[in-house]
Amino acid sequence: MEKDISLVDMPDGYQGEGFFAQKLSEAVGLARKNSIWPLPFATSCCGIEFMATMASHYDLARFGAERLGFSPRQCDLLMVMGTISKKMAPVVRQVYLQMAEPRWVMAVGACACSGGVFDSYSVLQGIDQVVPVDVYVPGCPPRPEAIIDGILRIQDLVGKESLRRRNSEHYQKLLASYGIQ
Ligand code: SF4
Repeated sequence: MEKDISLVDMPDGYQGEGFFAQKLSEAVGLARKNSIWPLPFATSCCGIEFMATMASHYDLARFGAERLGFSPRQCDLLMVMGTISKKMAPVVRQVYLQMAEPRWVMAVGACACSGGVFDSYSVLQGIDQVVPVDVYVPGCPPRPEAIIDGILRIQDLVGKESLRRRNSEHYQKLLASYGIQ
């Protein structure tokens, strides 16, 4: 008698109706990472490089991140680009606090990462003094390729994000270290 080879050595789950073999967190991560809505907080020259990154030559839309938002409540990626004065630091923090979870932060350029060349009494020496930063993009200014590289790193984090990490003890401790409840 001839054997039905389509059923030979197949685990039970492959027969009949079939099943969905994917973790929910991975499906959500895939959707999230390809539909990031950035909030560009641009204060100076690095913002100009970001404009070039958005334009047709570099075309950030290829990565699903072309929908910029200027309402923190709609965005999930805060991109800080430019020199942040100490007077402006509370505003950066306020914008971050107004974003819903899950949210990510990218410091673009030397000024946002560390104050850059402005080692001055009036300039914040890195936005990580007021908000938790996920990705740092170095350069003064960083070229569009470097900004795109930063977006890819953010995508990597977003794709791997567990649905529960933002409620984890580690993340809550991180927020608490910034005085955020
Ligand atoms: Fe301007 Fe350089 Fe600062 Fe960017 S890092 S805002 S290019 S001074």
